[in-house]
Amino acid sequence: MGGFLENLKNIFTSPVQSPGKQGAIKFVLQCNRCSEEITVKIRTSSDISRVYEEDGGPPGAVFYVRKEILGSKCNNLIYLTGYFNENFSLISSDVTGGKIIG
Ligand SMILES: [Zn+2]
Repeated sequence: MGGFLENLKNIFTSPVQSPGKQGAIKFVLQCNRCSEEITVKIRTSSDISRVYEEDGGPPGAVFYVRKEILGSKCNNLIYLTGYFNENFSLISSDVTGGKIIG
């Protein structure tokens, strides 16, 4: 018991824009169609959303990002879903149309 109140507290005491945690997370994706390497920058202040219980997500996931990435060499759209812990470390990812290589 008490989980609901505890969750509420977490929402109000842990805003996404915590001081010292702003910045960008970088990924290098490779397009499945043309092998282009695409660097993707995810801003922790605007691109990342908080994971709520009803969203599911892997254990320990606190933030997630969903992004569509288009390279410059072809029109293959890459869909990236990434889950992060509270330190913005990637703990799980799902990429359609490409893969994470760095
Ligand atoms: Zn491509």
